[in-house]
Amino acid sequence: MDRLGVTEAQPVAGGGDAAGSARRLLARLRDVMAGTAASQAQLDKIVQCIAAEMGAEVCSCYLLRVGDVLELFSTIGLNPAAVHRTRLRVGEGLVGAVAARSRPVATTDASTHPAYAYRPETGEEPYHALLGVPIVRGGAVRGVLVIQNARRRIYTEEEVEILQTVAMVVAEVIGRSDRGGAADATVGGAGDAPALPLRLEGVGLSPGLAEGSAVLHRPRLTMREMVSDAPEPEQQRLTAAIRAMHRSIDELVARSEQAGSSESQEILETYRMFAEDRGWIGRIREAIDTGLSAEAAVQKVQDALEMRRSRLSDPYLSERFQDFEDLANRLLLHLAGHRSVAASATLPADVVVVARSLGPAELLDYGLERLRALILETGSPNSHVAIIARSLGIPVIGRCARALRLIEPLDPVVVDCDQGQVFVRPGEDARVEIEAALSQRARRRRIGAELVHEPPVTRDGQRISLNLNAGLLVDLAHLDGLGVDGVGLYRTEIPFMVRPDFPNVAEQTDLYARVLAQAKGRSVTFRTLDIGGDKTLPYFHVPDESNPLLGWRGVRVGLDRPAMLRQQLRAMLLAAAGRPIRIMFPMIAEVAEFEVARGLLDRERMALGIESSQVAVGAMIEVPSIVWSLPALLRHVDFIAVGSNDLTQYVFAADRGNARVSTRYDPMSPALLEVLGTIADRCRSTGTAFSLCGELAGRPLEAMVLLGLGYRDLSMSAWSIGPVKAMLRSVSLPDVEAYVGYLRRNGIASVRQTLRAYARDHCIPF
Ligand code: PEP
Ligand code: MG
Repeated sequence: MDRLGVTEAQPVAGGGDAAGSARRLLARLRDVMAGTAASQAQLDKIVQCIAAEMGAEVCSCYLLRVGDVLELFSTIGLNPAAVHRTRLRVGEGLVGAVAARSRPVATTDASTHPAYAYRPETGEEPYHALLGVPIVRGGAVRGVLVIQNARRRIYTEEEVEILQTVAMVVAEVIGRSDRGGAADATVGGAGDAPALPLRLEGVGLSPGLAEGSAVLHRPRLTMREMVSDAPEPEQQRLTAAIRAMHRSIDELVARSEQAGSSESQEILETYRMFAEDRGWIGRIREAIDTGLSAEAAVQKVQDALEMRRSRLSDPYLSERFQDFEDLANRLLLHLAGHRSVAASATLPADVVVVARSLGPAELLDYGLERLRALILETGSPNSHVAIIARSLGIPVIGRCARALRLIEPLDPVVVDCDQGQVFVRPGEDARVEIEAALSQRARRRRIGAELVHEPPVTRDGQRISLNLNAGLLVDLAHLDGLGVDGVGLYRTEIPFMVRPDFPNVAEQTDLYARVLAQAKGRSVTFRTLDIGGDKTLPYFHVPDESNPLLGWRGVRVGLDRPAMLRQQLRAMLLAAAGRPIRIMFPMIAEVAEFEVARGLLDRERMALGIESSQVAVGAMIEVPSIVWSLPALLRHVDFIAVGSNDLTQYVFAADRGNARVSTRYDPMSPALLEVLGTIADRCRSTGTAFSLCGELAGRPLEAMVLLGLGYRDLSMSAWSIGPVKAMLRSVSLPDVEAYVGYLRRNGIASVRQTLRAYARDHCIPF
């Protein structure tokens, strides 16, 4: 018996033809899976087969829903009315224990078990013995498969194994339904019964959780006429439509000026530039002259651009082609005299836009007052729409396959960007959970707001430095309201990404000076350009690479293009105008790289007659190799900043942008704790200032562990400051250090559940 009060499955070796019955069962399941039944029906058949073949009176399948809730999706033996009604939290009851521990649980008498949670609606009173196994997919628990028997019996080792094998099959059925299935066959999904719930997977491009009504953004129109034998009137129609389109974009630019987001303006200005592109309009005109209608001409030019786009490997250029697609759609709407989807008077008050892709202007068209979230079938973190949405705090899920087909207009949807999932038509009870999660977030935000003026001090009186991660000027607007010490990470590549060309020294100086002005004397740590990998600039060619994240990125680019790096360093020093400044280099893999980069900085500094004491120079710790060179590196740096996003992806060899693997490994595992702990220990022993500025710092539970490892300086996005401050004000540092030290020494596989229990026991909000 462990602290959860759950007995591990203690299978006893059983006799009988176990392999034979496993084969028989799997053969029957293969038939079920090959059938044409929709997945809900498939699941129902699967539980029937399992019960029959394993001699169980009950077989039930629980699937994981939003908010760590396990919902009964299918059963044979329990009361059918309990399906989609019975829900247990992960960790609650025996089913919840299986999911929490990702291990089988067996008991001869469930009802007398201390972890048992009684659910009267299931009618399970007659059943005593219970065996539950986790349904695992992509390394994560997706549900629990359970068999029950009336007699108090012991399940054999073979039976546990068979049920685990069958759980893999169930995982496959869920996988199909998550992907939409071959023929819209989804578990409770569109092809089955539109009113039933559905879960879709994607990649979070802008963080947050939001709820609203789906509005399908399908701007493509059916063509009125393809050909026209009178080009002149068609040219005139085109001219009128282009004028109307320009007017509508001007209105958007004016609206964004009023909203005060200079990046949105910059992006929209670039967009307007595209809208006036003579080459693009000229090609449409030429196509009209060949005898096409204005609409068909727009479409023809668009199709040609699409062809070129499909051959592009550069994601940034590809995103710019996206702007032309949006413009073409706008132009077609104006030609047809239609208003855009966004301008429709019938839009609900809480819009979640579902689109294949979306341009920045189209996003703003929907109006910030009613726009709750965005679901895209395509998209990358670099797209203009993602950059704008992040700066405006609008959650975005990208690469959500077939969203437009699987989501119906006005469907209630929940967008959970942090977990990369969308819940479509969630059931009433699940919505209650979601509302609870949303109101918890709102409460956290309120607590954060209330805590703004409270010092970031732990219960034992130690002050922790909280800082902001920023990349756009609009991010810095949060500085005043958040009570933070400064900007712990200013990502200089972000402003570069929203520009059409490389900024010269004067333009860069102006940008950095504006950043320092907005910081109003607070410290700002500028990071030199971190391009390459998934961050590319349209005006800077990065050669094709098969592994861009392991390729030419970060300081590697700067060292190979020293003139570019020196220009940036000069601009930073000029912007500081005599004030102290902090500059750090990304992706340092070996000490020599840092020395060369620092040498370039020293040359610029000396040329400008600036004292070395005015400039603090740091290295980001993101590449594992440098962790082993820390004793040498620390002799050369003024500070270090741990970039846990990249460090985690390189430690686990799991691409941070790949949804299949990015959540597979829990950063709260002994390997990463050891790496982070080693860095902290080394810095403390040499008295080197150190901070952490990756996503880990912004999650309260993870931030609590960082405190336990010795980190006292954390940098995060604006929306994390409140929750992290609430956490640290409840923490006693000696206690949490002792506890994390114990976890480090004992090498527990993932310490997340244990940490949660610790935080609950000590009333620490996370
Ligand atoms: C990191 O890698 O943790 C980091 C802060 O840098 P970025 O997310 O910009 O790569
Ligand atoms: Mg990084």
